Amino acid sequence: MCGTRRVDRPWSPHDAVHSLVGMANGVITCPACGARNRVPVSASGSPRCAKCHVDLPWLVDAGDADFDAAIDTRRLVLVDLWAPWCGPCRMVSPIVEKLSAEFADSLKVVKVNVDDSPRTAQRYSATSIPMLLFLRDGGLVDTVVGAQPEHVLRSRIEGLRA
Ligand SMILES: [Zn+2]
Repeated sequence: MCGTRRVDRPWSPHDAVHSLVGMANGVITCPACGARNRVPVSASGSPRCAKCHVDLPWLVDAGDADFDAAIDTRRLVLVDLWAPWCGPCRMVSPIVEKLSAEFADSLKVVKVNVDDSPRTAQRYSATSIPMLLFLRDGGLVDTVVGAQPEHVLRSRIEGLRA
């Protein structure tokens, strides 16, 4: 990760700096107009709808290989450490997705399957999941362990995104 700060500007597909190979779900439907937009794991700006230009929810899947690129953004990053066998993770997942839409202008959500990404799980000592990490400029600023209600997570984001 380089240490340079980037200036937020409208995002275009040409900004994608990393390959989308392996990204099965890199498509987000615009909440305003319904257009389907391809959203990369990492980009130098913020994703906006190609058709109507509203901010798109920025929610990506990342793993050990592209985690550093995924968190390299000026936005507040919410990392959702989850696994397919984890019941409480399935409760947290729709809340996180809803919040990514609610804070489409200021939040990036990075979902990491800890079974597939042991190095990232180890890096943050994720011995219990679901675990949510809040990162700013690549540094950990808050951690939430266990399934928490929507209003608790929303107020964390509101307190941290400024
Ligand atoms: Zn749109």
